[in-house]
Amino acid sequence: HPSASKLFVICSLSSGGLIAHGDSPSEGGKSIVELNQKVPVKKRVVVLGTGWAGTSFLKDLDISSYDVQVVSPRNYFAFTPLLPSVTCGTVEARSIVEPVRNIIKKRNGEIKFWEAECLKIDPANKKVFCRSIIGENLAGNNEFSLEYDYLVIAIGAQVNTFNTPGVLEHCHFLKEVEDAQRIRRTVIDCFEKSVLPGLTEEERKTNLHFIIVGGGPTGVEFAAELHDFVHEDLVNVYPSVKDLVNITVIQSGDHILNSFDERISTFAEQKFQRDGIKVLTGHRVLSVSDRLINMRMKATGNDDSIPHGMVVWSTRVGTRPVVKDFMEQVGQGNRRVLATDEWLRVKGREEVYALGDCATVDQKKIMEDISAIFKAADKDNSGTLTIEEFQDVIEDVTIRYPQVELYLKSKHLFDVADLLKDADGNDGVEVDIEGFKLALSHVDAQMKSLPATAQVAAQQGVYLSRCFNIWEKCKDNPEGPRKFKSGGRHEFRPFRYRHLGQFAPLGGEQAAAELPGDWVSMGHSTQWLWYSVYASKQVSWRTRVLVIGDWSRRYIFGRDSSRI
Ligand code: FAD
Repeated sequence: HPSASKLFVICSLSSGGLIAHGDSPSEGGKSIVELNQKVPVKKRVVVLGTGWAGTSFLKDLDISSYDVQVVSPRNYFAFTPLLPSVTCGTVEARSIVEPVRNIIKKRNGEIKFWEAECLKIDPANKKVFCRSIIGENLAGNNEFSLEYDYLVIAIGAQVNTFNTPGVLEHCHFLKEVEDAQRIRRTVIDCFEKSVLPGLTEEERKTNLHFIIVGGGPTGVEFAAELHDFVHEDLVNVYPSVKDLVNITVIQSGDHILNSFDERISTFAEQKFQRDGIKVLTGHRVLSVSDRLINMRMKATGNDDSIPHGMVVWSTRVGTRPVVKDFMEQVGQGNRRVLATDEWLRVKGREEVYALGDCATVDQKKIMEDISAIFKAADKDNSGTLTIEEFQDVIEDVTIRYPQVELYLKSKHLFDVADLLKDADGNDGVEVDIEGFKLALSHVDAQMKSLPATAQVAAQQGVYLSRCFNIWEKCKDNPEGPRKFKSGGRHEFRPFRYRHLGQFAPLGGEQAAAELPGDWVSMGHSTQWLWYSVYASKQVSWRTRVLVIGDWSRRYIFGRDSSRI
């Protein structure tokens, strides 16, 4: 009975001022319960996702001004940079997760959390349709909808198989906590299988051939972890097969870790060579079967197949179907990733924000804007600007697009810095717009490389919560200090990413780090830096203590080889 189902969901899911407003049919003909405020007193903010972007938004949000509801199929936050350590038992899965309800509790329970996944976003009616992942309630209903005034999409990305046959069926992924746990069990399975009686040496070798597809930071870190696990722990418990283990990394590019400084990727390749980890660069995987991986060498076009015991697929990520569907609705169907403006708003939908891995700031639009600012400054259409005009333009551009300022400070910019230096104090000098455009094309290239990382996602979450927190104040005082000099585009400064560096653990208590200021560090001391940074970045004291405890346990007793 529809009203019975409505009542049940309201009792089980709602608290405070939520009531049912009636049912609307879902596609399958089932009724969907709508959870709304009877009389909205505060603006309703719906947040999708409890990953890096979602939780950092929630942690700093001033909830006294908003009615906040969070939807996520996982009732925890996972510290993803330590997932590779979970695959080999260096740290335990529970040590790297923090329950969402702990985070909410700290906010006096004002935030409502629904363990469900968002199936559809309806921007025209400002609604999201969700399904509980715990199964149907007693009345056979597990779907509901939420209305919003502001929507924050922070649902991350999903694995991308590039439609390669057999990948979904025969490969492991390393994206979620469950993936890491599954990998841990499978590694042990491969060893147990390899020591079963009646196998030839070749068959034992096949069982112990671990292949990692993707030579990015995650693939490389997993290969290094696995190597340590095998050589520090498993060789002692499976001594009869210790010489039959092989680890291979397949990379389509020319080098592994190619988003890092060249010195780091060379160091990693040399270290892997010393450790006996095989790196096959310039290879594209064509298909995967339960026993074989088929690939093509890009340079020669030759195909090759290698037998495997286990494959971990760790390549670039792709867009989730719910975001794809939303992109179609907002006219972005032809794009690969959902685009936002510099304030993280979805174009044409000012009340919808998208952050983290599920979105990207629209660089093309930014470049068009910058060119327009230049054109507008060149009043006599001469193709040149006086130095004063030029400096005004630079100021305007860097206020709107801080990435350009970042670029001005970086080592690659020669044109603009030189022009500024030469022209300094000389009013008569004119600046060539074409030269600046060339420089801007470098800016464009640099901005495009803004990575899909936890660092970006977390900074975006913090940025957006600050905007939400000062919103009311800005509305009362629209000409306030944060108002744009050139007028009226938005109350806040655009999002500004601060790159704090990146790490690549390489096994054997060695790591590589690329830090701001073009500073590169590699070796044992960098591993200690890695330990301190990752311990300090934990979201709570509870996980910090657990992670440090796990590292100490591993140091004293080694890793556990039981299959649980
Ligand atoms: P996520 O953290 O993935 O969160 C997405 C959230 O949305 C999750 O809570 C998910 O359950 C939820 N969700 C999914 N579907 C739905 C739905 N339909 N409805 C509602 N909610 C949904 N980055 C670094 O900076 N440094 C590192 O060292 C690093 N190491 C990594 C190692 C691994 C193994 C992996 C996988 C990633 C690593 N990253 C690292 C990248 C980093 O984890 C991501 O960039 C980051 O998680 C992106 O944050 P996000 O909030 O956009 O997405």
